[in-house]
Amino acid sequence: MRGIKASPGIAIGQAYLLQKEIKIEKTAAEDREKELARLDRAITRSIEQLKRIKDRVAKEMGENAAAIFDAHIMILEDPEFIPEIKSHIENEGVNAEYAVHETVKKYAEIFGEMDDEYLRERAADIKDVGSRIVANLLGQIRDLSELPNGTIVVAKDLSPSDTAQMDKSRVEAFLTDEGGKTSHTAIMARTLEIPAVVGLGNITQQVKNGDIIIVDGNEGEVYVNPDNDVLSIYMKKKEDYKEYKEKLKSLTTLPALTRDGRKVELEANIGTPKDVDAALANGAEGVGLFRTEFLYMDRNNLPTEEEQFEAYKKVVTSMGCRRVTIRTLDIGGDKEIPYLGLEEEENPFLGWRAIRFCLDRPDIFKTQLRAILRASAYGKVSIMYPMISDIDEVRRANKILDEAKRELRQNGIPYDLNIEVGIMVEIPSAALTADILAPEVDFFSIGTNDLTQYTLAVDRGNQRVRGYYNYFQPGVLRLIKYCIEQAHKNGKYVAMCGEMAGDPEATKILLGLGLDVFSMSAASIPLVKDVIRNATIEEAKALAEKALMSI
Ligand code: PEP
Ligand code: MG
Repeated sequence: MRGIKASPGIAIGQAYLLQKEIKIEKTAAEDREKELARLDRAITRSIEQLKRIKDRVAKEMGENAAAIFDAHIMILEDPEFIPEIKSHIENEGVNAEYAVHETVKKYAEIFGEMDDEYLRERAADIKDVGSRIVANLLGQIRDLSELPNGTIVVAKDLSPSDTAQMDKSRVEAFLTDEGGKTSHTAIMARTLEIPAVVGLGNITQQVKNGDIIIVDGNEGEVYVNPDNDVLSIYMKKKEDYKEYKEKLKSLTTLPALTRDGRKVELEANIGTPKDVDAALANGAEGVGLFRTEFLYMDRNNLPTEEEQFEAYKKVVTSMGCRRVTIRTLDIGGDKEIPYLGLEEEENPFLGWRAIRFCLDRPDIFKTQLRAILRASAYGKVSIMYPMISDIDEVRRANKILDEAKRELRQNGIPYDLNIEVGIMVEIPSAALTADILAPEVDFFSIGTNDLTQYTLAVDRGNQRVRGYYNYFQPGVLRLIKYCIEQAHKNGKYVAMCGEMAGDPEATKILLGLGLDVFSMSAASIPLVKDVIRNATIEEAKALAEKALMSI
C-alpha cells in the first residue's frame, strides 16, 4: 500500500490495531462467579496501569499534573462505584462490560448535572476510568505506553496526545488511514524519530493484529505479510538506512557553514521537555520552536504557572546557554483541548485559535507568560506569538506581557529584562505587512505549515487536496522572500520553524532567500546540514531566483 511519507525510516514489526471506540453489548454471563473474577482482574490491572502512568507523568511533568491519575485510582477504590458494578453482575447476570457501562452511565449523569463545576468535570474522569476497565476486560490496550515491543501501531488516526505518549523503545512505526504530512501527528512522529506513513485510506481494514508489516517511511510504502524475498530486501534496507544515519551523525559537531563561508543556525522543534535529548544529540544550536500546547493536553485541567515554569525551566537549563524559543499557546485547528469546552467550529483553522484565544482569555495567557518569564532567568529564552495577522495583535499581546513583567518585578521575581519577543509569520497578511511588523518585534519565525495552507487555500490535513499543498509554489516563496527582506532592512533576524525548514530539498532555496535560522525536527538537522555544507550562496541565490518564477 502507498500513503504519505510522514516520518522517515524503515521498520519491520507486528501490527497492533488501535481501536478507540469500543461497542459494548449486553450478554448473559455464563457463570456469575467467573464474571466477577474477570472484573476483579480488570480492576487490578487498571490500578497497576494508572500507578505506572502516574509515576511517569510525575517524573516528566511534575506531581500536580500526575494528580489526575490519583483521582482515577480513587474512583476504582470507591466504596460505592465498584460494588454497584458487581451488583449488576450478581443480580442480573449480565456480562462485566455491560455492568461497567451501566454504572458509569448512571454516575456520569449524576455528576454531569451538578452545579459545582469541579464536580461536573468528574463525569469525564468516571467515563475515562470506565473505558479503561472495559479495555482491560477485552484485553485491549488503551494507553500507547503499554504496547509490547516491536509494535507497528495501526489506527484510523492518532491525536497529537496519542503520539506524545508513544514510547520509542516499543513502537517501531505507525500507520494511519487519515492525516497528512504536516498534520501534528506526523510532526510528532518526526520529533520522536518513529517512522510513519499516513493517509493510507483503509489500512485499518487491511490488517489484523499480529500481521507482519514492513513500513518504508522514506518512500511512503507499506507491505502487509510480505514474502521472504521482500522481507530480506527490507532487512538490508533497514541496515543501510541505519548506516546512513550513523554517517550523518558525524556532522553533529560541525557548523552549518556553506562552502563559501556563510553560517546559518540549525535549531530543533520540540513538543515536550523530553525532546531536548534528541535535539542535543543531533547537534541543535537551540530550540527554534517549543510547541507548548502539549503541556495543556492529556489532562483534565489547565497547567498551573508552577507546572509550566518547571517544564520551561527544564528545557532552558538542559539547553545550556543555547536559545530556547517558547511559543505561546497555539490551540485550535487540529489541536484540541477538551476541558476548555471550546465550541465546535465549522472552519477551526480559520477560527478562534492561538493568539486570538489568548487575547480573549488574558487569565490563561498571562499565567503562561509569567511562567515563561520566570524560566528566562535560567538561560536564553525568546517568546513567540503564533497566528499573528496584524500589528494590533502584537501590541495587545505585548501589553499583557508588560503586565506580567510588572507583577514579577513587584514581587521581586527575576526574569531576563532583555527577553526577545517575536512572532510567527504564518498568515499571508503578516508576511505582506512584514515592513510594518518588523520594527515592532525582535524576530520573525516563518510557519510554512500554516502559511502554505492559508496562501494556497489548501487544508493541511485533507488528503483529497494534498496534491495542491506545496510550499515550493512561487506564491508561498515570494511571501517568504518579502518577509526576510523586510526583517533584514530593520536589522532583525528571520527563522523558519515550519516543516519546510527541515526539508533538504528546500534548503538551498531558503539559503538563497537569506534565511538565518532553520528550525526542524531534530532528526532532520544532519540531513539539512549536509546540504548546507555542500552548497555555495551564489548557486543557492540562482536557484532561489528560478524557484520564485516557477516550480
Ligand atoms: C507552522 O504553522 O508552520 C508551525 C510551525 O506551527 P504549527 O505546525 O504548530 O501550526
Ligand atoms: Mg502554525
